[in-house]
Amino acid sequence: MKRVGFIFLLLLILLVSPVMASAEREVVYQTSTIDALLAGLYDGKVSLAALKQHGDFGLGTFDRLDGEMVMLEDDIYQITADGAVHLMTSGTTPFAAVTFFDKDRSAAIGREKSFAELTAYLDRIIATKNRFYAIRIDGYFKYIKARSVPAQSKPYPKLVEVTAHQTVFEFTDIKGTLVGLRCPYYVKGVNVPGYHFHFISDDRKRGGHVLDCVIERGLAMLDETSQFHLFLPKDTVFDAMDFEADGPGDLKKVE
Ligand SMILES: [Zn+2]
Repeated sequence: MKRVGFIFLLLLILLVSPVMASAEREVVYQTSTIDALLAGLYDGKVSLAALKQHGDFGLGTFDRLDGEMVMLEDDIYQITADGAVHLMTSGTTPFAAVTFFDKDRSAAIGREKSFAELTAYLDRIIATKNRFYAIRIDGYFKYIKARSVPAQSKPYPKLVEVTAHQTVFEFTDIKGTLVGLRCPYYVKGVNVPGYHFHFISDDRKRGGHVLDCVIERGLAMLDETSQFHLFLPKDTVFDAMDFEADGPGDLKKVE
């Protein structure tokens, strides 16, 4: 009898363990909040190595707001304000959201779409607007308008002041990947409600935070994610901030 019990337990562990492993992958892990970033909290508090423990796909920024972050296939790229792309092996981030990308569904983009048409199309293929989606779009882009921001020094200005002087890049006829996240509207203050995309070219030489695009053709891959892990690093400045006083209006201006 004892032996039967042991075998049963072993079988149960074998059956349940893949489910447990995949459950851990279905989490959007985020450090700090969008409102903290808007308010100018740019000190990197989480190492990129630590961030990689929680995902292989995502976006964010770097210590001192030094450029746009793209995490794709477990590599972290930094697109600096001069337009250069750096593969990052060390460093820290003040704000990033990542997950392990496991494609739940994909949809071909066979006809040219503007940015608005692309997001409307994605809205039609997602099951619900109330869960998180990691979105990877590999494609051929007729046009990409992207931006990056330069590293800041203390006292840090608010994000809306920084983006007023952002560098804007325009790419035409370029192959690459949109690395994106779609957050539900109820995350307001914590992350960006709706779509947020960063771009990286296939040759890993161009990229940035996407302001506009025209996709000619491509493949959209979606990973629906139902768990959200918000990590708040030790930060006395964050702890002392009055988030009630800061209006949410700034987000519209920086996106
Ligand atoms: Zn961005």
